[in-house]
Amino acid sequence: MNTPNQLFIDGEFVDALAGGTVAVHDPHDGSKLTDIAEGRGEDIDRAVAAARKAATDWAATPAADRGRLLLRLADAIEASGDELALLETRDTGHPIRDTTRLDVPRTAATFRYFGGIADKYQGSVVPVERGFLNYVQRKPVGVAGSIVPWNFPLMFTSWKLGPALAAGNTAVMKPSELTPLSTLRLAELIAEVGIPPGVVNIVPGYGDTAGQHLAEHPDVDKISFTGSTQVGRGVVHASAGNLKRVQLELGGKGANIVFADADIDQAVQGSAFAIFHNQGQACIAGSRLLLHESIADEFREKFLALAASIRVGDPKDPGTEMGPLTSSLHQQRVLEWVDTARTEGCQILLGGTVPDEAPAAGCYVAPTVVAAATGTRVTLEEVFGPFVTVGTFTTDDDALTQANATQYGLGAGLWTTDLARAHRFSDQLRAGMVWVNSYKRVNPGSPFGGVGGSGYGREMGFEAMHEYTEAQSIWINTERLPPWYPRDQA
Ligand code: NAD
Repeated sequence: MNTPNQLFIDGEFVDALAGGTVAVHDPHDGSKLTDIAEGRGEDIDRAVAAARKAATDWAATPAADRGRLLLRLADAIEASGDELALLETRDTGHPIRDTTRLDVPRTAATFRYFGGIADKYQGSVVPVERGFLNYVQRKPVGVAGSIVPWNFPLMFTSWKLGPALAAGNTAVMKPSELTPLSTLRLAELIAEVGIPPGVVNIVPGYGDTAGQHLAEHPDVDKISFTGSTQVGRGVVHASAGNLKRVQLELGGKGANIVFADADIDQAVQGSAFAIFHNQGQACIAGSRLLLHESIADEFREKFLALAASIRVGDPKDPGTEMGPLTSSLHQQRVLEWVDTARTEGCQILLGGTVPDEAPAAGCYVAPTVVAAATGTRVTLEEVFGPFVTVGTFTTDDDALTQANATQYGLGAGLWTTDLARAHRFSDQLRAGMVWVNSYKRVNPGSPFGGVGGSGYGREMGFEAMHEYTEAQSIWINTERLPPWYPRDQA
């Protein structure tokens, strides 16, 4: 493949110091796409040194100029949209109709949003007691490390680089070893639009070597991690050495609740998107359907018919609605969850198998629907595949108890035509994001993140700018007041 396959450090593509490589595969048929350089600890060290060297000048670059470079990057992404979409599709298995319509436009939109925010984000003046001026400025954190997973590699890179660079930080990014290609192509665009060397460094490599080293690194000031809850806990431990700031976007088990008064056809459509988009490999997937018992039969029948009709196949085909999972290892994990469901006595209503027409080495799993009561492992733990559980509830209280029954608190959805219920219920859900009569909406201006086992901190919007800056409070004595209380007043 004609895409960069080296590490991007200090504005140049370079080999890994130890000379190792990682094979990258096409999950549609298991064929090898390319070998890429395998970054390890010593390469992370080089990248961090480059980011540190560039940090002072980048922080001192006028915010409007930083913003302009991000706007240029957004334009360059759009100009290369078809190429990036195809690259992402081949590397991840994500259908081309989605990478073209969603991933690439959203990546450009994110850089454009943060390009625009760069010179609008500002500090404040605090109304303190007379005789003092107290102002707060927002300063870049410094060197921002980022670790991203394989499910939306290009888009998640923009979620981290956008606010990091807009706020004046330099960056070291470690993409997943499984899906580094679009991020390395992005590195070329970053250089082309004139973002200075060292401001962005991209070092693909394995998690337990490159990732761990970045999380531990004493000269990294912040780590933003997107990935599993288990690895997220490890990142917190690894960060303790220099007490770097940590931001965690972890797993989810989104409840998707359909009330008796919902528009059933709309709910069926939206619920299918909620779980089957990107083969269910989304932290915000609506992976737990909870149906009011009075509409459960009607909903189930329509939902199963829609799920069975999803066009599964080669993700490069524009007609394909669901492609393969991103790796064979993950395909095995999802199929093991089907076995777990059976062991727990759950009924497989649809799928649970590799589709007959899938290529032999393809990583496919058919849309899978499982009847399961809240409390079973398949309703509490993240499967991260095209696997949705379906249960029922009787009252609003029952729905709320079941919805809030997991360790996670990322996304949740509800379908109702009762406005009061929509507000009341949204407020009571333990979730960072709630969608009413829709699911999985994201926008660069809207805070994204979770609570509990889903992590902490927020991407996107002004919240993300807070994550990438430190508040510095400065006190000016404006009336020559004595710096201490006079003794006669003590
Ligand atoms: P993962 O945790 O295995 O890996 C994520 C990233 O961390 C990869 O780049 C990996 O190489 C790296 N990594 C692995 N071990 C590491 C270590 N010891 N130290 C530092 N880095 C390490 O997750 P995954 O399987 O790639 O992705 C799926 C998970 O990501 C799911 O749990 C999903 O819910 C979660 N996710 C969360 C969000 C969110 O925004 N909340 C978004 C997407 C995915």
